Amino acid sequence: MKNDIQQQWQQVCTRIQNESRDVVLQRWLSQFSADMADDETVLICVPTCFMRDWLLDKAYDALMASLWQQINPAVTSVQFAVPQATKTQPQEEETISAEDDPSVYHLNPAFTFDNFIVGRPNEFATAAARRVATVADIAFNPLYIHSSVGLGKTHLMHAIAWELRKSRPNCKFLYMSSEQFMYQFVKALRAKDTIAFRDMFRDVDVLLVDDIQFLCGKSGIQEEFFHTFNDLIGDGKQIVLCSDSSPLALKNMSERLKTRLAQGLVVDIYPTTYEMRIGILQSKAQAMNAAVPQDVIEFLAERITTNVRELEGALRRVVANAQLLGSPITLDTTKMILRDMLNLYEKELSIDLIQKETAEYFQIQPNNLKSNSKERKIAQPRQIAMYLAKVLTTHSLPEIGAAFDRDHTTIMHAVRTIEERMKMDLKVYEDVEALRKSLQRYS
Ligand code: ADP
Ligand code: MG
Repeated sequence: MKNDIQQQWQQVCTRIQNESRDVVLQRWLSQFSADMADDETVLICVPTCFMRDWLLDKAYDALMASLWQQINPAVTSVQFAVPQATKTQPQEEETISAEDDPSVYHLNPAFTFDNFIVGRPNEFATAAARRVATVADIAFNPLYIHSSVGLGKTHLMHAIAWELRKSRPNCKFLYMSSEQFMYQFVKALRAKDTIAFRDMFRDVDVLLVDDIQFLCGKSGIQEEFFHTFNDLIGDGKQIVLCSDSSPLALKNMSERLKTRLAQGLVVDIYPTTYEMRIGILQSKAQAMNAAVPQDVIEFLAERITTNVRELEGALRRVVANAQLLGSPITLDTTKMILRDMLNLYEKELSIDLIQKETAEYFQIQPNNLKSNSKERKIAQPRQIAMYLAKVLTTHSLPEIGAAFDRDHTTIMHAVRTIEERMKMDLKVYEDVEALRKSLQRYS
């Protein structure tokens, strides 16, 4: 297995050496090494944070994942890791340190308010985040933002930090993931110095802790968090937290901590709308410096609705492939590059859906399609729906019959009738084609 990975890595490197036009990447490749993180993730170790950020910035994780997948379909993602995160990096001024604290916390320069697309699902969370970032008076404490994965919580946290730095330069803040929080805590415990641990936070005006669901089930840390939290709030300092669920829904979290967390302003972020996804794709494409045609943007916005991270990942793959091959982005290449991903979203076109769409198109009730009405304005749409069910699904005639409360001979008859009418009557032809097109959105 280990050998396989090394062999696959060699193949990936060879392709990059042969096909990429990026001489920097080619020069660096020999300094990287690859290993399996789990069954589907490859971990590529790179010597410095600077290289890692550069690789991420150019979406080379997506490119390598895509190359890798062609060799080993089990691999779904590539991640870059820096074996020992060092403090001295080229973009030191881009990092924000908590005094001389050993861990330097990185803020993603792309995660700003300017780059955050706002719509109904996140406007409340964004307004609350902006207020914390720009106004010193505390209106709510803590601010607690929750949503499912990939909807912009971390982006908003970083945006608050960037904005604080800009509009309230004297304000001391600390942004930590909960892993960093725990790392500090465990270290303090080992040194038997929890006072210093608390002092570290006492010093800050705004404390931002990301993903606090990771505190679940860790009662010692919860206890310390509870006290630190109370101290900070008592001292009039702002706390911002985010998590994957509402405070009261956190599992294995102490009741009093849950209650405390819910005492400020709790806001959630809902899944994106189509319009937001269009806006996000346009903004990300611009940031990647890529010319992405509008039909590709619309296609992605329509098909990848789960979360923004996946949407962005899909765009990165498409852009990375085009850059590597030096070819323009088109709808066809997009579909090809993303075929594995799109399969996951593919819905089986159902007879039910065909009936709904047909009824809507002809502005009749769906149950009319099962009725015995001989009225032309109903009978013809019914036959068209039967025809579409036959040509667009793999269902058998008896199955289709059952869906229309008919027997299979009626369906056979309808299919033949519509086939004939389509040749004679342009209106019927156009209706069928319009419906076929609109149903293709689902497959
Ligand atoms: P979460 O922390 O909720 O899991 P992230 O903040 O990491 O999600 O967001 C995942 C990705 O999606 C990031 O690259 C982020 O920039 C992007 N993203 C999420 N929401 C938006 C938005 N409204 N506008 C622009 N980018 C967004
Ligand atoms: Mg996050």
